[in-house]
Amino acid sequence: MKNIYFIGIGLIGGSLAKDIKKHNPDTVIHGISRKDATLEQALSLNLIDKKATFDDIEQADLVIVSIPVDATVKLLPTILDKVPDNALVIDAGSTKEAICKAVENHPKRRNFLAAHPIAGTEHSGPSAAISGLFEGKTNIICEVEKTAFKLQEKALEIFRNLGMRIRYMNPEAHDKHIAYVSHLSHISSFMLGKTVIDKERNERDIFDMAGSGFASTVRLAKSSPEMWTPIFKQNKDNVIETLEEYINNLSHFKDLMKQDNFEAIFDEMKNTNYIKEILNGIN
Ligand code: NAP
Repeated sequence: MKNIYFIGIGLIGGSLAKDIKKHNPDTVIHGISRKDATLEQALSLNLIDKKATFDDIEQADLVIVSIPVDATVKLLPTILDKVPDNALVIDAGSTKEAICKAVENHPKRRNFLAAHPIAGTEHSGPSAAISGLFEGKTNIICEVEKTAFKLQEKALEIFRNLGMRIRYMNPEAHDKHIAYVSHLSHISSFMLGKTVIDKERNERDIFDMAGSGFASTVRLAKSSPEMWTPIFKQNKDNVIETLEEYINNLSHFKDLMKQDNFEAIFDEMKNTNYIKEILNGIN
């Protein structure tokens, strides 16, 4: 792999660039972004070796697309149009159905691998990039059979070097499950943050009283709306379904409170402690 082009060099693209460069020191990492200032920042942080433009991907051995999912849907067909016949294109988007659909009939569909590395933080942009972000994390690959076998092998070697576990899934199942374990958590955190801010306009008081429980539960509310709005838009039906179930649970909890049924509240929490066993080994 001589020339790797990153389209989007924020948290995910930048973190991938750092670790891929570490394992492939002779590779030239090229960065493509909307804003020149972002590329300058990526250069100064040594995430990329060179700035590039969209047309330059005609020289690419590998293109990694890490931009908001609406931009990925829009740009992916043109990216495939431009890359050489033996190039691999990987996307890292948090939704998979719309992205896979956007290129399902593309003549170079076999050059594309749909991936979702389940790793991240609430920070964004090149300064958020960290090395080791993907170590021990899961990478979901969708429709692997639609990618040329040689390119699958190339991608798997990259993910292995990053220390990732691989899971295969169809895009519909990915979007359904990820709505529960990722998208709902973000909405819940955003709305918890909103509830507290609406009530406690004086942010100093929030800060003084907030314990680590509040800070960890509301952490995801610092995430980028530019990245999350298109995710909710693309996964609207699944997200609404998770919200309905979540709102039912909140309403049920409120009803139990009104009824002074603290025995049932105890049981609800006790049963949910099972989450410790489920998450054992993840945290
Ligand atoms: P990020 O830190 O905000 O970086 C995204 C970068 O994309 C920005 O720096 C932006 O650069 C650039 N960009 C936006 N629109 C563009 C366009 N039309 N063309 C070229 N560049 C564009 O976001 P991220 O967290 O790395 O997320 C990137 C992708 O990874 C998303 O698809 C997301 O769903 C997925 N993902 C995120 C996480 C997570 O936890 N954050 C985890 C797994 C997967 P400019 O400043 O130049 O606009």
